[in-house]
Amino acid sequence: MNREQRRAMAKREKKGGNEEMAEKVALFGKLADECLVCDKPFDKKNKEMVMSWNVVVREAEEKVNLYCPECWNGALKMLHEARSEILGEEE
Ligand SMILES: [Zn+2]
Repeated sequence: MNREQRRAMAKREKKGGNEEMAEKVALFGKLADECLVCDKPFDKKNKEMVMSWNVVVREAEEKVNLYCPECWNGALKMLHEARSEILGEEE
């Protein structure tokens, strides 16, 4: 099964999202131990942290980017604002 098929299957099995989680866990070895933006330390053994921090997998680069909730929310907010500006949308 190639990556495309796996992804299609993961999409169909959307219920638990376990596939995605398993993939993330498999990539945990490549995970940084601090936030990419603010260098806040990340504890992989801290379940709460693992659940609340955001992991962005860049499969093409085989890289895993890690963002703390603060930086993630900040980035999302910036994205929203940029999008609103470009599209002239109001939130
Ligand atoms: Zn951060």
